[in-house]
Amino acid sequence: MRYGYYLDAGLLATYLREKAIARGVHHIVDDVVDVILDPQGNISQLKTEKSGNISGELFIDCSGFRGLLINQALQEPFDSYSDSLFCDRAIAIPLSTSSEKEEINPYTTATALDSGWTWHTPLYNRSGNGYVYSSSFITPEAAEQEFRNHLGAAAEGVEARHIPIRVGKTRNAWVKNCVSIGLSSGFIEPLESIGIFLIEQGIQALVDNFPDKSFNPIVRKRYNKFITYHYENIRDFIVLHYCTTQREDTPFWKANKYHPAIPENLQENLELFKAMLPNFDLLERPPLFGDYSYACILLEMKYLPETSLPRLDYLEQEEIEKELDLIQNQAIKLKQNLPNHSQYLQDLHGANLTNSK
Ligand SMILES: Cc1cc2nc3c(=O)[nH]c(=O)nc-3n(C[C@H](O)[C@H](O)[C@H](O)COP(=O)(O)OP(=O)(O)OC[C@H]3O[C@@H](n4cnc5c(N)ncnc54)[C@H](O)[C@@H]3O)c2cc1C
Repeated sequence: MRYGYYLDAGLLATYLREKAIARGVHHIVDDVVDVILDPQGNISQLKTEKSGNISGELFIDCSGFRGLLINQALQEPFDSYSDSLFCDRAIAIPLSTSSEKEEINPYTTATALDSGWTWHTPLYNRSGNGYVYSSSFITPEAAEQEFRNHLGAAAEGVEARHIPIRVGKTRNAWVKNCVSIGLSSGFIEPLESIGIFLIEQGIQALVDNFPDKSFNPIVRKRYNKFITYHYENIRDFIVLHYCTTQREDTPFWKANKYHPAIPENLQENLELFKAMLPNFDLLERPPLFGDYSYACILLEMKYLPETSLPRLDYLEQEEIEKELDLIQNQAIKLKQNLPNHSQYLQDLHGANLTNSK
């Protein structure tokens, strides 16, 4: 079975910081007030508020949406995806939960609202909740009200955090001697929660393509191609959620149904899926969102192939039914025998969970 983990982003960041320091990373907490370039346009130093100038050979830009090094100092353009993905703001309202009493879902719930969608992500002691919306269709005040109505009494008195988001990608994630990772390299709305995945991919690809001091441009090119491939696959898959919608009851959903710019590759796939179920098997590298993911969205959206695959005609109906029955029976058995998710987490981690923040 495929699976994913829920990670408390705050705890994960603390864990990684401690791990890195223990392994010899020199950690300086300060504000970068200026970025100094050498005559070739490489970054040579970061000027900080209290710790003086910091020199380096390779710089990783982790400054979030500001893109302090990559976009501001090195002037690498940011390519917006706003013509196909209209959401540009998020509101977050975390809620505490009492996991001893409540069942924790082992999945995120995304619910469409008038001008976007909400996430409900359960952790052990709290849930992450957010409304991702388009400011072209609703004001921040009205969006917060709509979101509070959706959350009900549990959110009363809990402060909401408003977050402007820039959806798109820094054209080249690696420029000169600077590699942008995380929000500085790009962001696609969290409908499939791929932020940490992209950070991991960026780090792994940097390790795999780590340069020597000559910074051979072909290594950079390869890295950038790899990152772009992932971003475009993810962007296409998120656009797919919107452009196949049946909804047209609000201006936001109407715009998504009729007026998004559909990326070329997605357009081709949509045509292909009219002829047959998704099939990415022929591709050189399997993308993050492949056959299975596309089938889940398309079938739920009733975007169905016009004919069945010819090779299916050669299967016996009886065989097919036997296979489907087997799957269904396995699911019923698993459901009967497995503990619920809260119970499972408690058994796995015991007291550590109750004590964690
Ligand atoms: C609304 C929303 C929902 C998300 N949901 C998910 C999800 O479900 N799953 C998932 O995997 N990911 C998700 N993400 C993505 C995830 O949160 C981010 O990928 C991750 O937190 C980004 O980390 P970052 O380091 O790139 O940016 P940030 O967390 O923004 O960190 C940037 C840091 O740079 C610092 N900084 C900026 N300027 C300076 C300066 N001049 N000097 C010194 N420091 C500076 C800032 O203080 C900040 O600490 C979501 C993101 C958003 C916005």
